Amino acid sequence: MELESLEKKAKEKIKKASSREELFRIEAAYLGRKGELTKILRTLSDLPQKKRKDLGKRGNILKNELQELINKKNELFLNDSQDEYFDISVPGKNFQVGHLHPVTQILEQLIDIGENLGFVVAEGPEIETTWYNFDALNTPENHPSRDETDTFYFNSGEILRCHTSPVQVRYMEENKPPIRILAPGRVYRRDSDATHTPMFHQLEGLVVDNRVTMSDLKGTLEYFVRAIFGQDRDIRLRPHHFPFTEPSAEVDVSCLLCGGKGCGSCKGEGWLEILGAGMVHPNVLSNAGIDPSKYQGFAFGMGIERIAMLLYGVNDLRAFYDNDLRFTEQF
Ligand SMILES: [Zn+2]
Repeated sequence: MELESLEKKAKEKIKKASSREELFRIEAAYLGRKGELTKILRTLSDLPQKKRKDLGKRGNILKNELQELINKKNELFLNDSQDEYFDISVPGKNFQVGHLHPVTQILEQLIDIGENLGFVVAEGPEIETTWYNFDALNTPENHPSRDETDTFYFNSGEILRCHTSPVQVRYMEENKPPIRILAPGRVYRRDSDATHTPMFHQLEGLVVDNRVTMSDLKGTLEYFVRAIFGQDRDIRLRPHHFPFTEPSAEVDVSCLLCGGKGCGSCKGEGWLEILGAGMVHPNVLSNAGIDPSKYQGFAFGMGIERIAMLLYGVNDLRAFYDNDLRFTEQF
C-alpha cells in the first residue's frame, strides 16, 4: 500500500514539475540517498522473506520507472528552454547598436557650440511662401534662384524653402531685439552631383541688436570654426554678394590637411570655403518689422553636409544619403 501511494504521488509531482530545479528536488525526495523510495528499499531486510522479495521487485521496478520519467522530463526542459540552463562560459552574441547619422551628429554639435554663445534654436516650415523665401529677404524679381530650374514649386505657388533664411524673417516678426537665433533644418534645391543633393541641411545664425558690427560676426565665426575644426584653424572673409546681406562675405577655413601651405585637398589654395555671411540688409530688417535705423544684425549660413565632408574627408556628398551601412557605420 505504501508503495502504491508513493508511486501515485511521485508520478503526479514529476508530471507537474515546472522547472528543472523542481524536477531535481523531486528526484532527491524520492530517489536520493535519503529519498522516500530509497528508505523503503533499505528497510527490506527487516521484512519476512516472501514480503521482502515481492516488495523488493516492485520497489526496484518503480525506482527505474521514476528515474526514466525524470530523465525524459529533464530532456524536455532542456529542449524547450535555453534560459533554464545557463552556461555562463558560452561567448555572448554581439548586437548591432545604431547611432545618429553623421549629418545629425554635426548639426547637434554645431547647435551645442551656438548655445554656448547664447544662441537659441528657432524653426520654421519647410513649405514656404515666396514672400518669406525670397521677397522679404530682398531677393530681386529676376534673381536666378527664383527660377523653376533651381527651386521646387508647388501648383499652389508655394515652394520647398531653398534656405533656412525664411526662419529669420518669421522670428523677427514675432520677437523684438536682442535676437540671437540658430535656424537648423532641411532645405531643397534642384541640384544633384557629387557636391549637391536635392535635399540638404543648413544651419543659419542671426544676431540683431543695437550695436552689432562686422567684427562681432568675425569673432562669432572664428569661435564656431575653431570649436568644430580645431583651435589652430584660421578663417578669412572674402567679399561676396548675397541679396539679404550687405556687406556680404564668403568665409574660408585654413586647410585641414596642410594648415594653409597649399595641398591637393585645397587645390593649392591653403583655404577651404565653408560658409556665407554678412550684415543683415536694412531692407530685410524693415520687411520683418524692425527699424534699421535703430538696429543692425549679422547672419551666417552653412551647409551641414559640406562641413561633414570636409571634417571626415568624404568626396561625394551623395554617400550620406545612400544608406549604405558600410559607410554610415564609420562615424
Ligand atoms: Zn591644403
